[in-house]
Amino acid sequence: MIYRNPAIPKVFYSDLSARPIENCAFCSREFLQPGVFYSIEKVIKNHRVDFEYAICFDCSNQMKSEMSEESIQNIERYMLEHRFEEKSREILFNEEEVDAEDFLKACRIKGTPVDELDEYQMIAVFEGDELSQRAFPIIIGIEAIEELNGLLSAKTKGEMDKYLDDLTGLPPEFIELFKEKKKLLI
Ligand SMILES: [Zn+2]
Repeated sequence: MIYRNPAIPKVFYSDLSARPIENCAFCSREFLQPGVFYSIEKVIKNHRVDFEYAICFDCSNQMKSEMSEESIQNIERYMLEHRFEEKSREILFNEEEVDAEDFLKACRIKGTPVDELDEYQMIAVFEGDELSQRAFPIIIGIEAIEELNGLLSAKTKGEMDKYLDDLTGLPPEFIELFKEKKKLLI
């Protein structure tokens, strides 16, 4: 997979500033320099951005470490059942030229076209001011989001909420929204 244009697609720009997102929502790390890996996730509801955030790899690994073994295994099993990794590898390892938009047309898990989804999440991984070549953007529709959310144990949800409550310096409204919307983190 080679991006025809690796620049950050405008759909991943900040909804507020209409410019690339510059900092990690959790630790404020600056993104737009070489070697900094981060992901941007947007929740789209009825064609509008309902929630968006960007998170650096260190913070997302930290958050993943709050997941219970049971939750991790449940999610791995789900992804295996849906041949997620297998299909992803096929895309990543072929040498075809691609546009980021090619990946934003349907739910990666269920195949539901994006026009038929009332709610979905859009996630992409970046390195500095470009799309990362190690991943491709994905759409996850509401049905798969709910299934995935159902696989998180009560322990994991509790640990994640506690982790979020312990973070300092973030607006409480953001934390509350994040708790409500965080459904993937994977
Ligand atoms: Zn961070």
